[in-house]
Amino acid sequence: MNRIRKIETYLISTEVAGACADATRKVDKIGFLIVRATTEEGLEGIGITYNEIGGDATKQLIDTSIAPRVIGKDPFCTEDIWNDLFQYLRGVGRKGLSFCAMSAVDIALWDLKGKITGLPLNRMFGSTVRERIPVYASGGWTSYSDEELLKEIGRFVEDGYTKVKFKVGAAGGISRDLERLRKVREAFGPGLEIMLDANNCWDAATAIRFADRAKEYDIAFLEEPVFADDIEGLRRFREASVVPLATGEHEYTRFGARDLLLRGAVDILQMDTARVGGITEMLKIAALTQAWNIKFAPHCMEFLNLHLLSAFANSLYAERLYIFNEVWDHVFVNLPKIEKGYVEVPKGPGLGLELNMEFIKKASA
Ligand SMILES: [Mg+2]
Repeated sequence: MNRIRKIETYLISTEVAGACADATRKVDKIGFLIVRATTEEGLEGIGITYNEIGGDATKQLIDTSIAPRVIGKDPFCTEDIWNDLFQYLRGVGRKGLSFCAMSAVDIALWDLKGKITGLPLNRMFGSTVRERIPVYASGGWTSYSDEELLKEIGRFVEDGYTKVKFKVGAAGGISRDLERLRKVREAFGPGLEIMLDANNCWDAATAIRFADRAKEYDIAFLEEPVFADDIEGLRRFREASVVPLATGEHEYTRFGARDLLLRGAVDILQMDTARVGGITEMLKIAALTQAWNIKFAPHCMEFLNLHLLSAFANSLYAERLYIFNEVWDHVFVNLPKIEKGYVEVPKGPGLGLELNMEFIKKASA
């Protein structure tokens, strides 16, 4: 049997150039924590989580606590490994960094299952319903001047995207946000699909007032209009607004998804494969979105999500967060090309991605 022989981790971290701030904080550093799980026969699975903060702590948790529990196990038993780690780590966090660590390891095990069987993940999930996945471009920080905002949206459009997301919650209040929105709509016309992200900045009443005034600009969704833990505020927003509600990037596990769904606090669920507990957990979360007949649109980390988006018929699109573009380009040698806002699902085994180990070894040293 192909048992797991070793688990290695590499932390890549870079300073963000320029001032990228959303409504509630500034992003100074970004990076990937890469996991390589290798079997006794030398097959290798890749997993990733990303970090703005705490990448080194996540790495240490994997190296010293998670890896020793996973080594020697059968990589096909992802459910058993997940349950063991969940119980093992439960006292030190059922959200947050523990789950970033678990996610990266779980993704590596799924990639490994694909490598062993020779199957791409979407076929292992049971469907290739879509072979091309729509992708939207994401950025438009509130720290930008209006000119910088228009310039970046212009770059997205030049790069072929027809769907874009930018930030709201700018200094100056909702009348400033509406002005920025008007400028983007007027500059790029009705053909551009616009999504907005408020990054937790408002209370429900402000969010409802904003959405009521913004709806004339045809908004595909408003994301995290209130604090992510204010589920009652999300519910109030959803009941009062015609603008669809997207949320979930700050929730963890199927239990977090359950709470949003049971309380009617989401239209488009955006949980994050690299945070929620990996692919094992995302399969369950995607199934829950189907049971509630809502949309599934995983947060960020587009190349980890293509197979999930391919396999689940109620999924919408992948998110390409532009500040991560350079990291992606450096870390992999065979990223599929995004053209005219679409990307082909890789047909190789597992995730279908190959690491640039030369770069990774140098950058993580
Ligand atoms: Mg967001």
